[in-house]
Amino acid sequence: MAFTLTEEQLKKQQEFQHFADAEIDKGDHFPQENLNIAAKHGYMGYPIPAEWGGQGQDFLSYILLIEEISRVCSSTGAIIAVHTSVGSFPLLYFGTDEQKKRYLPALACGKMLGAFALTEADAGSDAAALSTTATPVDGGYRLNGCKIFITSGGQADLYTVFATLDKAKGVNSITAFLIEKDTPGLIPGKPEKKMGLNRSNTTELMLEDLFVPVSNRLGEEGEGFKIAMSLLDGGRIGIAAQGLGMARAAIEYTVNYLKAEARAGKKVDQGVSFSLADLATRLEAARLLVYRAAEVKESGARCSKEASMAKMYATDLAMEAATKCIDLCGLTAMRDDHPLTRYFRDAKAPQIYEGSNQIQRIVIARQLLK
Ligand SMILES: Cc1cc2nc3c(=O)[nH]c(=O)nc-3n(C[C@H](O)[C@H](O)[C@H](O)COP(=O)(O)OP(=O)(O)OC[C@H]3O[C@@H](n4cnc5c(N)ncnc54)[C@H](O)[C@@H]3O)c2cc1C
Repeated sequence: MAFTLTEEQLKKQQEFQHFADAEIDKGDHFPQENLNIAAKHGYMGYPIPAEWGGQGQDFLSYILLIEEISRVCSSTGAIIAVHTSVGSFPLLYFGTDEQKKRYLPALACGKMLGAFALTEADAGSDAAALSTTATPVDGGYRLNGCKIFITSGGQADLYTVFATLDKAKGVNSITAFLIEKDTPGLIPGKPEKKMGLNRSNTTELMLEDLFVPVSNRLGEEGEGFKIAMSLLDGGRIGIAAQGLGMARAAIEYTVNYLKAEARAGKKVDQGVSFSLADLATRLEAARLLVYRAAEVKESGARCSKEASMAKMYATDLAMEAATKCIDLCGLTAMRDDHPLTRYFRDAKAPQIYEGSNQIQRIVIARQLLK
């Protein structure tokens, strides 16, 4: 097993680092400019094959990209990760050629933004319990229901939405649909006022008697749950990369801060240096887990265990690093506009979405005990 990136991946990593530092802004509004610049570089469809308008790059390189962007602006990292892993991959893996032609090149070049709508008020961790209905009608389906906490809600141009044809029949009636932004009956709510990741819009998505033609059903009737679950492995590695980028940002900030303090004559005591050593060690462990999971996915092998381990470990580390780094930097880091405060606020959501870290533990244990 190789423990280093290839020459080419190292070159790309430098390119992404430079891009993130020089071109990604850290403002506080929806980061449309960041998405436009990412699109110019081809980063909105980085792992999408060239024949569908993407860059055709390997999955690990895409993960390096998400890590670097998230290091500078975790909301932008979240939007691009969702757009790619669960906004564009559904079409790539399950779309008909006609559906791919219609949407994939536009998603891959960033003309369209993709979103994924699974969660409901009573169907979060237990996604199979969803209640949004799809009633067969002439030429298609009528959808009714309400999704919640949808990343890029109201901003996205294409939503992959999951609904049930007959709830009594359980997961085997869940079906996936591709729904365009301006479809009558698709009503996004106001952005949630979240504790963090505030540049990433998260909204409700009401579906009121919304007509979807058969040509916009993704996969067969009843395949929706399988589609949703199969996308989550890749999605989780993207979230793991987000966690890795955020943990790195907090630790790198703190190292620089403490070095400056030392240069100014302040002694770094042993308690502080031990905490920093522990964080730096865990960061290396997270990096290995995340890159390894990406390698396994790229190989085509099943990667549920690796993806869950990477997601759980890296996002827990992002939260721990933000918390401990605030301690290490002291009172100055308590100010609301301090970078560490932002990492602290932003680190909570990745522990929860694409399967909470408790659910990741269930996935890992299930793989171990099967
Ligand atoms: C910022 C943000 C963005 C999001 N974006 C999207 C999106 O784009 N699309 C989308 O579909 N969803 C999205 N979500 C929703 C997210 O996927 C859900 O929040 C997540 O799946 C957890 O569901 P829940 O919040 O309903 O928690 P619940 O399922 O109600 O769980 C509550 C608590 O119980 C724990 N728990 C639940 N079941 C078990 C169990 N069996 N064993 C042990 N513990 C358990 C959970 O870990 C959690 O701690 C987003 C969420 C956030 C915060």
